[in-house]
Amino acid sequence: MKDIRFIKEGYVTIIAGPCAIESKEQLDTIAKIVKESGLSFLRAGAYKPRTSPYSFQGLEHQGLEILKEIGDKYKLYTTTEVTDAETVEEVSKYVDILQIGTRNMSNFALLKKVGSVANKYGKKVILKRGWASTIKEWLLAVEYITSKGDAEVILCERGIRTFEPYTRFTLDLSAVPVIKKLSKLPIIIDPSHAVGQSDLVIPMSRAAIAVGADGLLVEIHNEPEKALCDGQQALDIKQTAEMLYQVSGIASILGKKIR
Ligand code: PEP
Ligand code: MN
Repeated sequence: MKDIRFIKEGYVTIIAGPCAIESKEQLDTIAKIVKESGLSFLRAGAYKPRTSPYSFQGLEHQGLEILKEIGDKYKLYTTTEVTDAETVEEVSKYVDILQIGTRNMSNFALLKKVGSVANKYGKKVILKRGWASTIKEWLLAVEYITSKGDAEVILCERGIRTFEPYTRFTLDLSAVPVIKKLSKLPIIIDPSHAVGQSDLVIPMSRAAIAVGADGLLVEIHNEPEKALCDGQQALDIKQTAEMLYQVSGIASILGKKIR
């Protein structure tokens, strides 16, 4: 069993990668960028819960195999989304962290299954906030997971739905200090799905670290314009370097480093 130590004293943890695994070559290229940027965590979706049934749904099992191979090659910890209770056991064989997406925060059968499988195999869990869920409902969802063992849960704020249509969702940064007040759980920010536009990702990444988030979950892509999923919000190689530079600056004011 790998000891992930998601939260490391004095560090903010950046999990970066494409929205979806598209091919081995694509993931290899992006993982190399992640590694060469000094980061240790790779994100990539194999099962993609899309709003439209006509959109790319992910490479599914083949994607998991690619993610495992590339994660091992670059010695990166990996995370991918689990979308239903039936595939949790299978997914957990291929990744270090199981991600529960916004659409499934209230899928209690899935939460319980993830809790027991994560406990059995020593996996961590990222629980995204439902886009229409309160902080209280989010924290109760954590208890469905922890009722089945003591898997470490990392909360991820990814934007909630408000009346503002300019951004994809509205990033609730106040969730960070509130969660810190109400719990001891780590909390990371996903600026990508919150704003939905790559040029807004860097400022919100800076703000996330300034407000005390333990890390970021951020979408990056070597060729965003060709991405099969969420290319409009992915940072390209240059933007990724700029984001890391700026976020490091904010982190250093707080006496932290990025990893
Ligand atoms: C994702 O991280 O790729 C994703 C689908 O996010 P969310 O569940 O926040 O929409
Ligand atoms: Mn995405």
